[in-house]
Amino acid sequence: MQKLSLESVEKLVRGQGLKMTPQRQAIVEYLQNAKHHPTAEEVLGAVNQRFPMTSRATVYNTLNWLKESHLIIEIFENGVARFDPNTSQHHHFICRACGTVEDVAFEVVSQVPQHLPGNQQVDSFEMTLRGLCAHCRS
Ligand SMILES: [Zn+2]
Ligand SMILES: [Zn+2]
Repeated sequence: MQKLSLESVEKLVRGQGLKMTPQRQAIVEYLQNAKHHPTAEEVLGAVNQRFPMTSRATVYNTLNWLKESHLIIEIFENGVARFDPNTSQHHHFICRACGTVEDVAFEVVSQVPQHLPGNQQVDSFEMTLRGLCAHCRS
C-alpha cells in the first residue's frame, strides 16, 4: 500500500525549495493517521488544536499542493471533498446511515469489462460501494 509519509513530503519540500513548516507537518501527520477520509474542515479543526493560528488558506493550499503532487487523493461524496492518504488503487464504501467512508481493497472488485459498449477502452477504475457499515448494522 502506498501511503503518505513525512519523508516523501520532506523530499517534495526540498525539491521545490520550500520549508517544512510546523503547520505543514501537522497536516501531514493528521492525514497519515486519519482513516476516515477527512474533509478540509476536519483537517483545519485538527491542526488548529495544535497550532491555533493556522489559517483556512494554509490548510486548503497545503491539501491542494499534496494532491497535485500525488501524495494524497481527493474524493468527492455528495459534493464534499475528502482527502485520502492511501494512494494505491482501492475502492470506497460509504455508509448510508452514518456517512462513514471506508477503504475497500482493490482485490474485492478487480474485474470490469476491458472494453465498453461505447468503444471505450478501460485502463483503470475505482468504485464507490454503498450500504450499511459494520457499526450501523449491529
Ligand atoms: Zn454507518
Ligand atoms: Zn481511501
